[in-house]
Amino acid sequence: MNQRNFYTFLQKHILLMIGLSLLPGLAYIGLAWLNGIATPAFIWYVLVIAVSLWGYSLYRQYNPEHMLSDALNRWYMKMMIFFYIIFALWSLVFVLYAPAVKSHLNYIAIFTQLGAAVVASTLLISDKRLFFPVLVILMLPLVIYFMLIGEWYGYVLSVFATVLWGVLLYASDKSYQLLQENYYQAQHDSLTGLFNRRYFVDYMDQLIKRVQYSQKFAYILLIDLDHFKTINDTLGHEVGDKVLIEVARRIEAYCGENHVISRLGGDEFTIVSGEFEEMLHCREFSQDFAEKLLQRLKEPYVIDRHHLYLSASIGVNGIGRKSSEARHFIKEADIAMYEAKAQGRDGIIVFNEALAKRVEYHLELERRLYFALEHNEIDLRYQPQMNSRKELIGCEVLVRWKNEKFGFVPPSEFIGIAEKTGLIIELGGYIMEESFKTLKAWNEQGIVLEQFSINLSVRQFFHADFLVQVEALTEKYLTDRTRKLIVFEVTETIIIEDMYKIIAIMNKLRRIGIAFSMDDFGTGYSSLGSLRQMPIDELKVDRSFVSHISKYESDKLMITTILAMAKIFDLKTVAEGVENEEQFEFLKDNGCNVFQGFYFSKPLEQKAFERYYLNNREQRRIEINEEHE
Ligand code: C2E
Ligand code: CA
Ligand code: CA
Repeated sequence: MNQRNFYTFLQKHILLMIGLSLLPGLAYIGLAWLNGIATPAFIWYVLVIAVSLWGYSLYRQYNPEHMLSDALNRWYMKMMIFFYIIFALWSLVFVLYAPAVKSHLNYIAIFTQLGAAVVASTLLISDKRLFFPVLVILMLPLVIYFMLIGEWYGYVLSVFATVLWGVLLYASDKSYQLLQENYYQAQHDSLTGLFNRRYFVDYMDQLIKRVQYSQKFAYILLIDLDHFKTINDTLGHEVGDKVLIEVARRIEAYCGENHVISRLGGDEFTIVSGEFEEMLHCREFSQDFAEKLLQRLKEPYVIDRHHLYLSASIGVNGIGRKSSEARHFIKEADIAMYEAKAQGRDGIIVFNEALAKRVEYHLELERRLYFALEHNEIDLRYQPQMNSRKELIGCEVLVRWKNEKFGFVPPSEFIGIAEKTGLIIELGGYIMEESFKTLKAWNEQGIVLEQFSINLSVRQFFHADFLVQVEALTEKYLTDRTRKLIVFEVTETIIIEDMYKIIAIMNKLRRIGIAFSMDDFGTGYSSLGSLRQMPIDELKVDRSFVSHISKYESDKLMITTILAMAKIFDLKTVAEGVENEEQFEFLKDNGCNVFQGFYFSKPLEQKAFERYYLNNREQRRIEINEEHE
């Protein structure tokens, strides 16, 4: 149970109890005065005032956010004593009034005692530890009193009072259990029995305040299992649930007593550490702790005879002096966790300021990218593609973004953002339209190319309107001849979707004359099998292999293998990132068809490309003439 909430609940009752003692207390003094027992009653009232003052100071002392658990426990003990004493004072009134049979004050005494029992039940029933002793203080004098009457009705009343006592005890026990159960359910995850998100956030809020007050340090771990969805999708949710339970057991066993562990939902878990005196110690400890935990989580799982191997991405964040809200710390741990995912999963990232800055930068890029089209900040470049005789035969369209604040932002940075936000649909549409316009203009100027390549994002490719959009744009700008020049470059990540869907979309586009190229070939996961199934016309040998030609034998081997394979599958090959003669010669000798790279030209603006084309044609004419002479 969350003790702090419960203590806060009890704290309010201190005031109520003081009120219920001081005000009726005055009436009791009056009655006593009328019946000649003023002095003891007066002394009693002074005691009530003294205890009330003490109670009030306890009320003021309570500060759950800044009290460590030791201090809280001490406070609770004092508060228990306060309630014992104040109810004992009411029993004292009973002892004082009960003998005054002649003035019938004994009736008032009995009523008062029962009334006090009702008050105690109302205020304290949910706290067994407090309520049971208070009941003894209130009910025992009553039972004894009835017995001491010595008549038959006295014994009957004594039995009745004992029964009432028992009923109250029973009620307290039940309501305590119910409360515990409710608390438990409200704070725990029903699948794993760990704490839930709600508890975790509450706990973090308190921890942060406490840590700041006491100048200590703590850390949180945010754990997200890698590819957990695959387990759910392939083996079913039942197996998935069992995996989550097993993960929870492992975390619990690994953490021991000192940590608060919760499941935030899905396959996300958090661990909050205990408190540390030293920041450095806390930080070192947290990393070591996370690494060992990750090892533990990666041990094989045997579930329903399946042998499963899991890994996790873990974000770590320190909690310390920096004043902040729980939300904030959790968000930062989340950023670190996502960074671990981005760096290939199965890893640990500790949140730091540089990471925060980068995330901030990305958010700012995201905001500004939104207006890039509107502000005319998007431009296209065309990088020449040559054949083995160094004749210009085509180009690749590459996008550029020039922003007021950040200047030139490379596509490697903003394409990913545009994909994530969905802006790529609009941006991709714009790129396609602008490049079709260029192709149309070139065609009219007599610039004859063999191919015209445009990069496509996966998200664009699978967008519902994609086909319609391409058809409309081809209709609008391209002729039967020029549309056959179009090549869409896709990457191997496209294979995340099912093959039939990919093939269906590709075939529809091929019908209007568009060809496909597999970009960055060799860097992704595509298998030979999927390559053979897909209606691809061209392979692009990734720049990373080309640039290492002179350095690594393995890269040479990779290239010759890709080129040989392309020949078997009857695919055209384009090498990208050709930067020198040596690379060009090597690629040419091994049967590569098309070459693109800084060796020939950087990506050019439209007009510059036109000039490059004319120069290249002129150059060729001179060379041909020389050959003839
Ligand atoms: P990519 O498709 O692999 O494009 C080739 C990249 O290599 C281009 O970078 C190009 O400028 C660069 N490059 C070309 N020759 C050389 C060379 O000899 N040496 C070196 N070091 N680099 C060379 P860029 O323009 O920065 O584009 C980066 C990536 O951004 C592209 O990689 C592509 O994945 C993406 N991208 C660019 N334009 C578009 C676009 O219009 N749409 C989509 N969806 N993605 C695009
Ligand atoms: Ca490309
Ligand atoms: Ca590429």
